[in-house]
Amino acid sequence: MKLTSRKLPTFGEQRRAGRQNDRLQAPAMRSRYADVAKLQIDLNFAGMSRPPPSPQSHSYYPPARAFFRFACPCSECDGEFDLSASVAALAEMKQPSARTASGRLGCEGMHFRERATAAPCPMVLSWRLVLVRAD
Ligand SMILES: [Zn+2]
Ligand SMILES: [Zn+2]
Repeated sequence: MKLTSRKLPTFGEQRRAGRQNDRLQAPAMRSRYADVAKLQIDLNFAGMSRPPPSPQSHSYYPPARAFFRFACPCSECDGEFDLSASVAALAEMKQPSARTASGRLGCEGMHFRERATAAPCPMVLSWRLVLVRAD
């Protein structure tokens, strides 16, 4: 009988598992951002990959977890994009008219981290937040 030895998890797998765990620990939108009825996050990626990764759109309602970290869609990459601070900045603005924010973020992940040819990931995220406040 041959025993298959479990391969050690890669850095990327560990990072994904960590992110999953952090999502489960995150507070609900209704407790973290009580006056937000809906938050929409649109993600558009540009990088070296052909075809470029599909755009993503995420909607958060009050029962959803207030968790705003997204894995880089690049297959060799262990990076993530963290919009937590941008969401907090928009949600905490006192003007009721403050409803949208947008910006760009470069990926901080590495390709082939365990090899000598490690190179930074060229993926760039353009993000947009649309916030609907509760009355
Ligand atoms: Zn990346
Ligand atoms: Zn990449």
